[in-house]
Amino acid sequence: MKKHLRFLPLLATLTSLLLLQIGPLATAKEQERPMIVGKKGVVTFYTETKVGDLVLKPGIYRVQHRTIDSEHFMEFTRADTYEYYPEGYTWHIKKAKCVLELLENTVSQTVVLSVKEDGFDRIIRIKLKGENVVHHLF
Ligand SMILES: [Zn+2]
Repeated sequence: MKKHLRFLPLLATLTSLLLLQIGPLATAKEQERPMIVGKKGVVTFYTETKVGDLVLKPGIYRVQHRTIDSEHFMEFTRADTYEYYPEGYTWHIKKAKCVLELLENTVSQTVVLSVKEDGFDRIIRIKLKGENVVHHLF
């Protein structure tokens, strides 16, 4: 019995040390959680759709987030036209400014949220499968 009792203060000290370690570590991990962006999504617009300053014609588009000169954009590229672009393919990519918000979990399904504005659909949020962010568009 006496042997067991001698261990108690040591265990108590170890426990408090562990608690001290876990606390700050958990916080640091939370802050350093990396954003997963740049996944490609495919969306279909059935009517003319506004996003930022753009008006996108009905069609199928590839959507992808890009960071250019520390500015954030969502790129929309027609995926259902195979015309020849003498100006180059990049001319065909349309960009809308975006603001990122980190989510708790990874997105399991691509979702586009839009509102009605003057008879148009205006995209205000996009979540792409495999990312852990929501893209806010204005
Ligand atoms: Zn974005």
